[in-house]
Amino acid sequence: MNQIPPAPSLREGALVTADQNTLTADVLIIGSGMGGGTLAWALKDTGLDVLIVERGQFLPREPENSQPDHVFIKRRYVTSRPWYDVNTGQAFQPGVYYWVGGNTKMYGACLPRFRRSDFTEVTHHDGVSPAWPFSYDDLEPSYSQAEQLFQVHGSVDEDPTEPPHSTDYPYPPLPHEPAVERFANMLYLQGLHPFHMPCGMQLPSLADRIADTTADGSPSATGNKSDAENRAVRPALESPTVRLLLGAYVRTLHTSPDGHTITFAETEVGDRTVRIEAKTFVVSGGAVNSAALLLRSVSDQHPNGLGNSSGLLGRNYMVHNSTFFLAVDPRRRNDTAWQKTLGLNDWYEAGPETPYPLGNLQMLGKLRAPMVKAARPWAPLWALKMVTDRSLDIYLSTEDLPRPDNRVTVDGDKIMISWKPDNLVPHQEFVKRISQTVRKAGYPIVLSERMGIATNSHMCGTAVAGKDPSISVLDPDCRSHDVSNLFVVDSSFFPSSAALNPALTIAANALRVAPTMAAST
Ligand SMILES: Cc1cc2nc3c(=O)[nH]c(=O)nc-3n(C[C@H](O)[C@H](O)[C@H](O)COP(=O)(O)OP(=O)(O)OC[C@H]3O[C@@H](n4cnc5c(N)ncnc54)[C@H](O)[C@@H]3O)c2cc1C
Repeated sequence: MNQIPPAPSLREGALVTADQNTLTADVLIIGSGMGGGTLAWALKDTGLDVLIVERGQFLPREPENSQPDHVFIKRRYVTSRPWYDVNTGQAFQPGVYYWVGGNTKMYGACLPRFRRSDFTEVTHHDGVSPAWPFSYDDLEPSYSQAEQLFQVHGSVDEDPTEPPHSTDYPYPPLPHEPAVERFANMLYLQGLHPFHMPCGMQLPSLADRIADTTADGSPSATGNKSDAENRAVRPALESPTVRLLLGAYVRTLHTSPDGHTITFAETEVGDRTVRIEAKTFVVSGGAVNSAALLLRSVSDQHPNGLGNSSGLLGRNYMVHNSTFFLAVDPRRRNDTAWQKTLGLNDWYEAGPETPYPLGNLQMLGKLRAPMVKAARPWAPLWALKMVTDRSLDIYLSTEDLPRPDNRVTVDGDKIMISWKPDNLVPHQEFVKRISQTVRKAGYPIVLSERMGIATNSHMCGTAVAGKDPSISVLDPDCRSHDVSNLFVVDSSFFPSSAALNPALTIAANALRVAPTMAAST
């Protein structure tokens, strides 16, 4: 890319400086990612005084955004501290990024809706995936609105599992490039139903595709990726009623003496502590950080963490079972620039060919040698390049199930993760079937690796929503059962993980709950 377009400038007064010891707002949103950013956008015309508090800064648009050695080897954009694996005692670097826009700065912008069945009880190999406290039809209008906001490209009538849409996608699907088109044709020939994966990327020309070829796992310098910063937070900040405080880490939430309402957020800004008072407090830090903040906020009234009378806060942590899968034909180069155009849901639901759901296939962004180097440090870059120049790069995900023992806990400021993957049998079956499928499609070499504890990009479930306060943390509108002015608006509320990318559902849910929140503030 020759010239990097500058980010749009901000309204004067949009950024708050914390030079007083106390700040006030009607609604305080903690975290500016998919959940918090979209919620701020949804509240921008309500007249409420909205303050977004974000521990990170704006991610700079710079040439290094699209240089895999800087992103993956020098880890230029890693801002989070290690978390701890309780089972091994080892520290690990989680896949979370503290920037305005949160993890969407690094995401691949695949933006599918969950399937209708994902909202209902479904039997899996290892147990039952529970029903949600609202249906697909309840969320459907908000999905449409989220697709407009995030400029999703897609097609409603290719995938047999696609649920009904009340509006078309705002943009037609991104066309496949030749290697992916060829793969799609080989799948059709096997009687399968590949479809164009819904995607929040504006890529009208090949030059645009080349400029953003690394934008899955890396930031985009072009502004063409629909991340939460450029499609939600910046547009929200155009409103005079929405403000943003940067570099501000909310450590704890404090309540009234009876414990029924939050009164202020104790927030670290540099070396100072600022008190932020609000009528409504929204925690949108991502499924692990949201749970951690509430677990840190202990008091006599909430001895096990704020809003944790169910004992479920931090539990039911889910991340998907996922595998990176390379299909290699040594005779053929893969020159695809934007590879994430294809999806396959033929085994997403149980049917004649499978007694239980297996999952979703989609494409990764085109892998480059430095991206693989971190996982294969012993391999020379030239050898990795030979492989990645010829590989079709695929991502397989299978639903994991909510287990109380898979959980987030805190030890002071440390984040501890207890995680044992479950529902692995269908994932292994899925990998096996896809291996057979790609071999039949002409790719004789198959390399695959199941992701471990550090690949938590699809994390969810740590503050489950439900109607019964004894078995859920939040009500169906994502309000705490215990604390009347506390909402959690990110993937923490998910009762199940589905087997699809979560971000559009997080955004749609933020749009769904915003009117209730506005009315009660
Ligand atoms: C490499 C990668 C690829 C991905 N690809 C896709 C994809 O293609 N499609 C998809 O649907 N999903 C994808 N995801 C996942 C997607 O990005 C997340 O599901 C989504 O961003 C989660 O939204 P969230 O609001 O829960 O959290 P986030 O978007 O992570 O936002 C949380 C924000 O809260 C801030 N924060 C946290 N704690 C505090 C605190 N105490 N005080 C102040 N601020 C705080 C963080 O800095 C962050 O900005 C991907 C993720 C990664 C890492």
